[in-house]
Amino acid sequence: MKVAVFSTKSYDRKFLEAANTEYQHELVFLEPRLTPETCMLAAGSQAVCAFVNDQLDAKTLTGLASQGIKLIALRSAGFNNVDIGKATELGMTVVRVPAYSPYAVAEHTIGLILTLNRRIHRAYARIREGNFSLDGLLGFDLHGKTIGIIGTGKIGTLVAQILKAFGCKLVAYDNSPSSRLCQELEVEYVSLPQLLATADIISLHCPLIPDTYHLINAETIAQMKTGVMLINTSRGALIDTKAVINGLKSGKIGYLGLDVYEQEGDLFFEDFSNTVIQDDLFERLLTFPNVLITGHQAFFTVDALNSIAKTTLANISDFERGICPNRVKAEIAPTNH
Ligand code: NAD
Repeated sequence: MKVAVFSTKSYDRKFLEAANTEYQHELVFLEPRLTPETCMLAAGSQAVCAFVNDQLDAKTLTGLASQGIKLIALRSAGFNNVDIGKATELGMTVVRVPAYSPYAVAEHTIGLILTLNRRIHRAYARIREGNFSLDGLLGFDLHGKTIGIIGTGKIGTLVAQILKAFGCKLVAYDNSPSSRLCQELEVEYVSLPQLLATADIISLHCPLIPDTYHLINAETIAQMKTGVMLINTSRGALIDTKAVINGLKSGKIGYLGLDVYEQEGDLFFEDFSNTVIQDDLFERLLTFPNVLITGHQAFFTVDALNSIAKTTLANISDFERGICPNRVKAEIAPTNH
């Protein structure tokens, strides 16, 4: 199939080309992000391959459908950026990579927790300047602390497994818990208010759907322990950024680790090091010494990129054969935020 691959970076091209020796699709690599303005670049293709910050709203999908695009192959697990209802209405199939490497994201989550706690990022910079003072680097033992995991699917369960080995007490909130491993790990399922009130560290691993949009807001922050560590490697809009900034200013939130940000589409995956960033909320976050942000890199391992490339190309071949095991079904899809 001829496939227009949007938001292509050099690493996407490298892994897709390597995997494509087996599938032999005609891949057209395009650097621009997919938007209503760029969708015409897909002309002549039968499928579009898109990533997390591509904008697959009604307008883009209508533009793609008018060019005869029948398949949207997402290089991601999350599909909150796609108007699935509209795609269905237009007769388009949307496929995704449901699981590529939950280990990649879980391990990055642990990296954020450890770095924030022991201030490894600050120590790194300090030592390079010949400053061996320990002031400001004081951490705490993870052993014995209570970790609250919101969403115990593939990633949340692995985070629980790793933190169990640190000797943490694990509580979780999931509106549909199904993890056998969490039961074996003796994770205690509690209500959201109970989790908020007891956790020393809260880590978000649920999808972004209407129910979870701004799950972390002024009201839920008020229920947390003072000095709590909040980690989000899931989707940016789970958090109301303004409310979190207020929480950081008051000291209610003691540490914030983010790999995702609600307005990340305008920033992440691009180099703005010679530009004045116009997003004042994001810039405010960067002023806090207890905030650590990575730019949606939790998935970014060799193993995950290999798996994403293979599954994406297999999804396209499956579609050609009329079978779509990784299709996103309209009835389970969230609306867009
Ligand atoms: P998953 O589908 O295996 O697990 C999600 C869990 O959340 C499920 O157990 C589900 O029951 C639970 N859930 C759903 N709605 C909920 C609600 N309202 N409240 C509480 N729990 C709820 O997903 P996963 O593979 O573990 O991925 C989790 C999220 O991680 C994805 O939604 C995706 O957005 C994000 N992600 C981020 C990266 C990254 O690079 N940062 C990479 C992959 C995935």
